[in-house]
Amino acid sequence: MTRHVVWDRGVSLPGHRLWLDPLVVRTFAFISHAHTDHARRHREALLTPQTLALIPEARRPRGWRMLGYGETMARGRASVTLLPAGHMLGSAQLFFEHEGVRLLYTGDIKLRQPGTRTPTPIPRAEVLIIESTYGRPHFRFGDPDSTIESIAMWCRRALDSRVAPVLLCHALGKTEEIMLALAPYGFQFALEKRCVPCAQAYAVAGSPLPDWIELNGGEAPGRVVIAPPAGKDEVRRLGRYRTALVSGWAKDAEFARLFGADATFDLSDHCDFDELVEVVERSGADQVYTVHGYTEDFARHLRRRGVRAWALEKPEQLLLAL
Ligand SMILES: [Zn+2]
Repeated sequence: MTRHVVWDRGVSLPGHRLWLDPLVVRTFAFISHAHTDHARRHREALLTPQTLALIPEARRPRGWRMLGYGETMARGRASVTLLPAGHMLGSAQLFFEHEGVRLLYTGDIKLRQPGTRTPTPIPRAEVLIIESTYGRPHFRFGDPDSTIESIAMWCRRALDSRVAPVLLCHALGKTEEIMLALAPYGFQFALEKRCVPCAQAYAVAGSPLPDWIELNGGEAPGRVVIAPPAGKDEVRRLGRYRTALVSGWAKDAEFARLFGADATFDLSDHCDFDELVEVVERSGADQVYTVHGYTEDFARHLRRRGVRAWALEKPEQLLLAL
């Protein structure tokens, strides 16, 4: 039964009454992380304490069961363990064991962490359900540490010529992770208003951020500005500024053009194509399901490599997973 996995607006393990990141409200569901495409008001949700802290009160599940990394709980005759996913604060993979069969659900996942952060663990499993946001081979990202270095130099050069450097980042997760990664360079930050509640939530969830103020309708001399990629009204009030898109989509010329940024950096909080293949190899799974993004492409690629793989979800319109 454990090997039976279906898609119905979310991943389901029938027979275990367990939903993984379902898009509609369910009785019992695992929420892998706090991005809005995953959090719903389920009757009972399984999540990490950090993920719960990052979900605004109005969108919280009605009940919850919190589990820390490496902690295990029983679910009928099966056991469930949450592991770090490296995607954002609180993000978790779900490791499920039942009658000798192991199943790993990655949720949104990132292997290569900048700096000295703990690498994302990939346990051995027979069945793997993996995200495939960047499941096409042209999505290959540079080394995160050198990319952070290049972003820091780009910001420094702009500040030195009295131009505001504006990093275009998803408000929740990417904004805070880039602040933490740039902290050793001593920058101060000004956040566009949509990033503010997310930065506050990060601090509440136990991850204090380097010095920042809210961008307040004017200029922020000497500071690195961070704003979401879409809707640049506030950014335009900065006077002299330069923008850089910080996203895996930087590898896709169409998308990069869409956001009209002056520069792009391919720093992502998702696995690139090679990392996705690495997750599959390290898990040793002989049964793989793909969800999100390029599901069909990635499943086809795995089948060519001799892995039994299926797209669990029909191909979507391109999702902007920035
Ligand atoms: Zn996400």
